[in-house]
This record gives sequence, C-alpha cells and structure tokens, in this order.
Amino acid sequence: MTIPNEFLSALEREGILYTLNEPMANHTSFKIGGPADVFILLRDMARLQYIVSLCKNHGVPLTVIGNGSNMLVSDDGIDGCVLRLDDNTQKPKMLTDTKIYCPAGIPMSALCSFALQNGLGGMEFAWGIPGTVGGGMYMNAGAYNGQLKDVVTRCYHITPDGHEGHLDAEDLKLGYRCSVYQENGCVITGIELELIPKDKAAIKDRMDTLMFRRKDKQPLEYPSAGSVFKRPEGYFAGALIEGNDLKGCTIGGAQVSQKHAGFIINIGGATCRDVTSLIRHIQDVVMENDGVMLECEIRAVGRNV
Ligand SMILES: Cc1cc2nc3c(=O)[nH]c(=O)nc-3n(C[C@H](O)[C@H](O)[C@H](O)COP(=O)(O)OP(=O)(O)OC[C@H]3O[C@@H](n4cnc5c(N)ncnc54)[C@H](O)[C@@H]3O)c2cc1C
Repeated sequence: MTIPNEFLSALEREGILYTLNEPMANHTSFKIGGPADVFILLRDMARLQYIVSLCKNHGVPLTVIGNGSNMLVSDDGIDGCVLRLDDNTQKPKMLTDTKIYCPAGIPMSALCSFALQNGLGGMEFAWGIPGTVGGGMYMNAGAYNGQLKDVVTRCYHITPDGHEGHLDAEDLKLGYRCSVYQENGCVITGIELELIPKDKAAIKDRMDTLMFRRKDKQPLEYPSAGSVFKRPEGYFAGALIEGNDLKGCTIGGAQVSQKHAGFIINIGGATCRDVTSLIRHIQDVVMENDGVMLECEIRAVGRNV
C-alpha cells in the first residue's frame, strides 16, 4: 500500500527509525517472507503508544511481531507497518516474593532465567521456546505439560485506539495455543506471573532435561516455525504425518522434517507458497487416510495468505 508521507514524517519527528520494504525473511525463524511496507524495530516501549495511535490516525495497518518464531509470512509481504518488539531497555522485576512483572519484548528464555535466579518454579516448561514473552502470551505458548495459562495472572496492553489497559487471567480466554489477543487487536506490553518457591538446583535440572529433549527431538539446525499443526484431539500430529510416510516429503525448499514430522523445515530458499502447498498436501493426505483435519498452529500473516 502507499504509506502517507505525513505518517513517515511523524515517525521522523519523534526520532523513530524505520526502514521501507524490509524483507520479513530477516525477521522470521522460517527465513521466509516478503517486504513489509514500513518496518520498525522498537527497542523502547515508551514509543509504542505513539506508534499505535499514529497508525490508527493514518489508516496504516499495524502488525506487531516478537521473534517471528511462530509465523509464516506471505512472499508478497505485509501491508502497512510491522513493529518488532525487541526491548532491551527493560528487565523482569519482582512485584512480591512470588510475583514477577515481565515486559513483552524480552525473550522467553530471559524470563525463565530470571525465575531461576529468584528460586521460583513454574516457568521451566518454556525454557527453549524461541520467542518473546509477548508472542508467547498471544499464543499461550506451552510445552511438556506446561503453558503460560498456568502462571499468568494479568496481561497489560495498548488497545488499537492507543489506550493503556490490562486484563486479568479470567478474561484472557487462554486455551490451547489461543488467547483473547488473537481477537482483540491489542498490543501486549507486559505480563504478571505468580510462581512458586522452588529449589534452584531442581529448577535448573528440569530446564536442562527439557532442553536436552528439545535438542534430541527437534530439527533445530534448520529454519522452521516449530510445530506446524495443533495437536488434534486424541492424536499427535507428528505421528499421523509419519504414519502416512510423509517424512521427507518436499515441495520446493520446504520439507517435512526427517527428525520430527510435526515440523516443516526450510532446506534452502523455501517460499511461503512452498510451505502452504506442503501444508495442504499433508492436510489432504491425513484427512483422506485418517479422517483427521490438521489445524495450523503457525500464524499465516501478510498479503494474499
Ligand atoms: C524450534 C522451535 C520450537 C518451538 N517450540 C515451541 C513450543 O515448545 N511451544 C510453543 O508454544 N511454541 C513453540 N514454538 C513456536 C513459537 O516459538 C512460540 O509460539 C512463541 O511463543 C512465539 O513468540 P514470538 O515472539 O516469536 O511471536 P511471533 O512469531 O513474532 O508472533 C506470533 C503471533 O503473535 C503476535 N504477537 C507477537 N507479539 C505480540 C505482541 N506483543 N502483542 C500482540 N501480538 C503479538 C504476532 O502478530 C503473531 O500473530 C517453537 C518455534 C520454533 C521455531
């Protein structure tokens, strides 16, 4: 789309750095994605409210991303403004002996380390999830029988109108890889978590065990967006895919991982079209042979997806 000059001038007046036509392949773990019209790497959350309001006032669509580790971005790119939260100006902080506030733009791993340092258990499950706290909250990220839902008590956000707000746990609609933020268009700015005092060595031991399992089972040496499909009721997506001999199935640069059939990996030069064709092929085969519809966990974003 054509970005209004006044929009760009307003960013410049505030000293907000941006790039035009930024390839999103540089900002996704899949290494896939065409250009964003305007791209801002936001390292100072104090500017967030201003940018959200500016987008609204100029009719510029806003897409907020974290580490891009759960996204499949269109080869045709993303309309409007993409804001990547990568806030290194803030850190998690203790609110009480067991309650933590954590800003959205920091890596999930930093939150896990902070909990460990403070002898608080409950975040071990998330050690190794390669996203930001905001992206994790949006997805209700989880692994190894844990999920953010178990520990989050409140979430802070900016509404699409540019106002500050928050929601408490009971209003967050946290379910399997979903949250109210997939419906309301708010930008997540931080979360509060209630954790449980625990022996530091035991926390560390659990984190090491889970990281070992990840490295053992997941194709971390290739670009991917993690598990492509949600776990269907009563089944495992990976087992269904493997059971249909789809391991290694390749379209263009996209391949069903030999190591973990639930992952699609980019073996070199994969496009969004390659990945979506492979996803459809997997869905068709599994539906035909097992009668199970595999629903995508990864978020398709951008033009014509
Ligand atoms: C190797 C690998 C392993 C993985 N393992 C797991 C796992 O075990 N469990 C799991 O749950 N996931 C896993 N994932 C997926 C991914 O890491 C998680 O979903 C992660 O929480 C996404 O965070 P992110 O910051 O990368 O979000 P992004 O991918 O950047 O964004 C995801 C969605 O959230 C939105 N979003 C991001 N930040 C905000 C914000 N601040 N406000 C509003 N919306 C926002 C984006 O618009 C997008 O729709 C894995 C991915 C990879 C590559």
